[in-house]
Amino acid sequence: MARSINPLLLYLNMPPQLQCPICDQRHPKKLFDIAEGQLLKCKNCTLAFYSPVPSLSDLLDFYNAENYRETYHEGSLAGIKVADIRYQQICRYLYRQTPDLLRPDRQSQYLDIGCGEGDLMKVFAAQGWEVTGTEISPEAARRAGDDWQNHIKIGDIDSLDFAKGSFDLITMYHILEHLINPVRALTKIAGWLKPGGVLFIETPNWGGLGARLKGRDWALIIPPEHLTYFNSRSLIHLLRRTEYSQIKTYSSAPQLIQSLARLPVLLRMLGWSVYQLSAHVGLGANLQALAFAPVADDQ
Ligand SMILES: [Zn+2]
Repeated sequence: MARSINPLLLYLNMPPQLQCPICDQRHPKKLFDIAEGQLLKCKNCTLAFYSPVPSLSDLLDFYNAENYRETYHEGSLAGIKVADIRYQQICRYLYRQTPDLLRPDRQSQYLDIGCGEGDLMKVFAAQGWEVTGTEISPEAARRAGDDWQNHIKIGDIDSLDFAKGSFDLITMYHILEHLINPVRALTKIAGWLKPGGVLFIETPNWGGLGARLKGRDWALIIPPEHLTYFNSRSLIHLLRRTEYSQIKTYSSAPQLIQSLARLPVLLRMLGWSVYQLSAHVGLGANLQALAFAPVADDQ
């Protein structure tokens, strides 16, 4: 049956499902049918990815739909409590890799891509950072409040631009897996970082315990919302290909584990321990990476 072809794929001059979006390897392995398409796995970099790729306008309609925004607002990825935990965690990583960035007098420039309602941006601002956010949904940005509107740029990574070398630190929490073209996005973002600036990514861990145990029933296989599914190998491959260096990957438990909240105390403690131990051995629910942008050519 004929399927309508995404204009982006016509531009790339290739059939929809035969090329890995990270390493360009052809002939991926089909894992299973899902939604309106298939989940495929690259035999080279091990990325799992959904095909066919939706159009940007379809994705914009999806993310601006009221039920998506409400679900996000109520979900475990939003809220000041999650933002506080994220801030503490990323500071621990930065302290080990680039402690100078955390100097209180430095007034470092911070960008949160996909800032939602701006919670993490607000935590960074309270700690003395100069902050900016980007958000694809005007409705989410509006919820950040009037005082923050001029800190948030509305749009997707392709449509936005910042001056070269604007930021010391850029974070992407649960954004990467939504992107139509991760290579193009991370290449563009590298240009927004100052030479030697830091990119931090958090994405669901395709190599984690939950994904391994649940297979196709893993709750985070949700195309077209999630288009790519990374393990540490494929994430490192992407970061190397897009010119980042000194790449460190981590695995972590979710900042809030809502599924445990309804359990009796002992089961909740046991579940919490499993999440934390899994993260300790690289099998955590979240995969994270910290990577440095290239320094200037003439240095
Ligand atoms: Zn690949």
